[in-house]
Amino acid sequence: TLVRSLAKKRVPLQVGRMCYSSSVPTTKLFIDGKFVESKSSEWLDIHNPATNEVIGRVPKATQEEMLAAVDSCSRAFHSWSETSILTRQQVFLRYQQLIKDNIKELAKLITLEQGKTLADAEGDVFRGLQVVEHTCSITSLMMGETLPSITKDMDTYTFRLPLGVCAGIAPFNFPAMIPLWMFPMGMVCGNTYLMKPSERVPGCAMMLAKLLQDAGAPDGTLNVIHGQHDAVNFICDHPAIKAISFVGSNQAGEYIYERGSKNGKRVQSNMGAKNHGVVMPDANKENTLNQLVGAAFGAAGQRCMALSTAILVGEARNWLPDLVERAKHLRVNAGDQPGADVGPLISPQARDRVNQLIQSGVEEGATLLLDGRNIKVKGYENGNFVGPTIISSVTTDMQCYREEIFGPVLVILEADTLDEAIKIINKNPYGNGTAIFTTNGAVARKYTHEVDVGQIGVNVPIPVPLPMFSFTGSRASFRGDTNFYGKQGIQFYTQIKTVTSQWKAEDATLKSPAVTMPT
Ligand code: NAD
Repeated sequence: TLVRSLAKKRVPLQVGRMCYSSSVPTTKLFIDGKFVESKSSEWLDIHNPATNEVIGRVPKATQEEMLAAVDSCSRAFHSWSETSILTRQQVFLRYQQLIKDNIKELAKLITLEQGKTLADAEGDVFRGLQVVEHTCSITSLMMGETLPSITKDMDTYTFRLPLGVCAGIAPFNFPAMIPLWMFPMGMVCGNTYLMKPSERVPGCAMMLAKLLQDAGAPDGTLNVIHGQHDAVNFICDHPAIKAISFVGSNQAGEYIYERGSKNGKRVQSNMGAKNHGVVMPDANKENTLNQLVGAAFGAAGQRCMALSTAILVGEARNWLPDLVERAKHLRVNAGDQPGADVGPLISPQARDRVNQLIQSGVEEGATLLLDGRNIKVKGYENGNFVGPTIISSVTTDMQCYREEIFGPVLVILEADTLDEAIKIINKNPYGNGTAIFTTNGAVARKYTHEVDVGQIGVNVPIPVPLPMFSFTGSRASFRGDTNFYGKQGIQFYTQIKTVTSQWKAEDATLKSPAVTMPT
């Protein structure tokens, strides 16, 4: 069941082309192990991006409700952090199985609220599931260090211990994967967790919370609140919250990093991107063009790792007509329709912003090789669709280059040499991801060493690391010093206690007090 109550006049929730009457389901809060209706007087509509119909409502939780949620986390912390690590591991072993069993249902919810295609939505769940699977190695991941005999009869060892209550603030574009980067990592370490999903796509996070409860997570170990700025400020300010994981835009991320840090919390903040794909003339043309098109237009470009900018080096310039041909054949449709490649954008505002950025390119002298504005999708005339769009002859001073577009738009720059391409990328403020396409190992090696970007693909268009590594990112794409998931995720959610112990043989009694610094 969806963790929503249907308001008094019950309306069946259908995935697909939907029609709701005045009565729509409300999203619950998850407080102290119960799914409860908010008493808030402020509610936001949730829309199906393919139709713009209202499919649900989400509350802006009241101060009392947010306090109840964090108090619940605080109360649960003592017993959860003292629960044996094997028991915590068992909860997440059951959780990964429940996610697998429900992957199709989770994906349907994602498509309904976020718009991406069903196949892509399953990928969204799957990449989060991999993080949950990784948490099941916690018995190795959380080990401390030991060094015996640092002096006579003396050993030093460390414990990794949880911090307390931690919180996560998530964006709209990965309703499953990004919350799953957050609370499973925090909780398996022994922390309790306050989650605030994106208010635009809260349904999937609620279902994930229900599955975690079914997996045996005790009441209070995970609480979920909803809202916008007030909820974010509450998280940044509440003294019981020790660490905040944020993923989203720079505007919110810089603010949360600053406000949370000022309040003495650990903050990791993954933010915006402008990812460049460098195409060398020696690359495998067929693979490169297919990969570029997939990475630029998949998820309608609403991925922080979308390859939204291509730099064609030397003769690779001549590949533009073939690139356009491939992009033209992508099918734009509602995410639940068979064969859909590109779904709608999240909102009419997002669509208008993307259209405006395309227009700015035209006005600033770029060439519009493929124009996805004004696309009509039969049966979904009210959806927020933009078709694949390619803008060439773009220069670095243009607005469509400077700003993250976050839509199905590929901007093309040209360079004469690899050095020139690297210079362009290192001058761009963002450092989230990049890819180079080449068959020359020396070129690839030079690129990976010289480019100042967190995640680099060599003939891999979207190099999101698996969870045994960490999701990195440099410069304006990241604030903080410890990244999401992998070893760094464990570091983020734990603190170290160092024990130095001496056990002398009975006859080795001290003769007098030692007043100098021990060496
Ligand atoms: P967003 O910043 O609008 O929202 C993210 C969260 O912050 C939401 O929970 C929202 O309620 C809250 N929020 C929004 N505006 C706020 C403000 N002014 N002050 C305080 N809180 C605020 O982001 P989005 O539109 O949901 O997501 C898209 C952005 O996320 C893109 O920029 C994308 O690149 C980025 N992103 C980055 C990564 C990464 O790992 N680097 C991954 C996914 C998305």
